[in-house]
Amino acid sequence: MVNFFRKLFASDFMAHGFCLRWDPGVLWLHIASDGLTALAYYIIPIALIYFVRKRKDLAFDWMFVLFGVFILACGTTHLMAIITLWDPMYRLEGLIKGITALASVPTAFLLVRLIPSAVALPRPEDLRNEIVLRTRAEEQLRKLNDELERRVQNRTARLERYNDALQRLAYISNHDLREPLRHMTTMTQLLQLQIGTALKPSDRTLMEHIIDSSSRMQNIVDDLLGYTRILNEVNEDPPISEVSLRVVLAEAEDNLRDAIQESQAHILCKTDLPVVLGNPLLLRQVLQNLLSNSMKYRMPDVECRIEISARRYGPVHIISVRDNGVGIKIQYADVIFEAFKRLHGREIQGSGVGLAICKNIVESLGGRIWVESNGEGTGSTFHFTLNAVVDPTPNPDSVEPEGRRFSKA
Ligand code: ADP
Repeated sequence: MVNFFRKLFASDFMAHGFCLRWDPGVLWLHIASDGLTALAYYIIPIALIYFVRKRKDLAFDWMFVLFGVFILACGTTHLMAIITLWDPMYRLEGLIKGITALASVPTAFLLVRLIPSAVALPRPEDLRNEIVLRTRAEEQLRKLNDELERRVQNRTARLERYNDALQRLAYISNHDLREPLRHMTTMTQLLQLQIGTALKPSDRTLMEHIIDSSSRMQNIVDDLLGYTRILNEVNEDPPISEVSLRVVLAEAEDNLRDAIQESQAHILCKTDLPVVLGNPLLLRQVLQNLLSNSMKYRMPDVECRIEISARRYGPVHIISVRDNGVGIKIQYADVIFEAFKRLHGREIQGSGVGLAICKNIVESLGGRIWVESNGEGTGSTFHFTLNAVVDPTPNPDSVEPEGRRFSKA
């Protein structure tokens, strides 16, 4: 081995030219063929290196490098074939052929392994089709987007118009209706005091109807004002913070003290109430309206029981207010959340905005509200969702039970 490398450049064999008997024609044929092949072999790797450097995105670039080395080695074997015509350095030539062989085997092996991936590369035709499809899809998406934007703009403009009309109505109610109404009630009451006893019973009843109607009218105007006030607050994105529902419920109960006393209602908290993301004033209004309805629509001669509970489902809490009141027919489950829609007559006071207010508030806080009832006389349960405060520890109950309805209204 050592001897081999010591004699690497030795010319102790017979020059290849002797085998060709120094025939000029044959010699030049070999020189020209090997020379041109070597030149081509040297140019190919240069082209490949240039190509790889220009196309940095290229897949399998290492394969191009290996291929380049292999071709360079091939070119050198042809160069050696020219040299050994005169100078028989066959050891050096053999060594170069050996290196070429070593580079060629892994190149061939890797190339074979690479074929499936290379075949899987999209053809230019596929890419062109893909581009056409994408361009079309983008165009359709853009049109859809424009259409959606146009609809949103129209709807916003319509809502703004409604809002303005409602504001005007509220303004008129407040300034032009309230005062004459109050005046009318007071005057009729005074009249009742002064001449009430002198009137016939049928006239007295008429007068009581006037007083009753005007005070109902006053309540409706007040509710209408309350409704427009909430709409305004909700429209103006009320500040959101962490709110303890336990505190909010206590405040709502405090505000309803008289009604609770009058109805002898038992309000029970079935579970601990959570801290949620919301607005304390608006949430108090929701609980207040639901509790007040549960008392208003209680069953006559049955102890009024109201149960409040909360359950967490992943990012939301579902708050439930269940009562044992008169219940609701399921076909009215959606309608009752619309403003000024009532299922009851004058026997129970109300103007039909309480649940519409709840719906507006809950939805403005990113939640839903709905009712469940098995019909008249079976009580009702109002559910609403509120966003939970982000909690880093996952909750075991965080999977929504199958078939559960989050939204009804
Ligand atoms: P209001 O109570 O002023 O009529 P709401 O918007 O609060 O207005 O309620 C709309 C209707 O839904 C009520 O008229 C009533 O018929 C029905 N309702 C609301 N809450 C209950 C309840 N807890 N039980 C039975 N019916 C209810």
